[in-house]
Amino acid sequence: MIRLYVTTELSPGTAVAPTLDQSRYLTQVMRLKLADDLLVFNGRDGEWRCSIAEVLKKGVLLRAEEQVRPQTTVPDVHLLIAVVKKSALEFAVEKATELGSARIGLVQTDRTQVQHVRLDRLDAIAMESAEQTGRMDVPVIDATRRLTEVLDGWDATRKLMFCNETGGQPAIAAVQAAGAGPWTILIGPEGGFSPDERERLRALPFTTAVSLGPRVLRADTAATTALTLWQAAVGDWAR
Ligand code: SAH
Repeated sequence: MIRLYVTTELSPGTAVAPTLDQSRYLTQVMRLKLADDLLVFNGRDGEWRCSIAEVLKKGVLLRAEEQVRPQTTVPDVHLLIAVVKKSALEFAVEKATELGSARIGLVQTDRTQVQHVRLDRLDAIAMESAEQTGRMDVPVIDATRRLTEVLDGWDATRKLMFCNETGGQPAIAAVQAAGAGPWTILIGPEGGFSPDERERLRALPFTTAVSLGPRVLRADTAATTALTLWQAAVGDWAR
């Protein structure tokens, strides 16, 4: 069934106004009609069966009928990825959402090529990916910050899976040994991390430096792979 993410509250009988784009999608692409059902979630109130209550010129109005699944959360794993070229970043955001990342941060590293990031576009990709994949929230995407600043303000209770293309421990065993809890996965840019960055990252007490195998992966592949391994090691695939 069709799933839509909305920002409004969901409770019995509430009126829900999707965006104009969503309304067009419902009536023009999916050809829904008055009284047809769809699923709606807002990241807080679980998943709801809603019906089309009104079809207006300016979009449709939905009515929340009943909660069909209670709210669930994804594991507390963030992806922190260097700004890479647009298609790779978009791929990484889509796949990280599917793979259950709770939050996605963008970082500028020593070897990051400076480029403009369309956050609104990445938000839209995350939203569509969450709708399609059945999760009940959409990961927040944080605007680009410098890696050094992110590390300066690090909460030491959050472990860091530093994906190091120059070598580290095999990922699954290393993450399992470090244990469950909040984690962030760090992926570098096309040019890799600088020696200074590597040195600093390795010395941090919350860091686990891991290898993703003997081949050098592109950043988007590395992000997807690291999340997969993390989920299998200590995430909700491991339960
Ligand atoms: N230009 C670099 C590769 C960068 S790949 C080089 O030739 O060495 C982009 C990022 O993906 C890396 O910074 C790292 O975070 C991750 N990555 C790619 N392959 C990896 C591997 N085999 N093990 C761990 N991390 C990897």
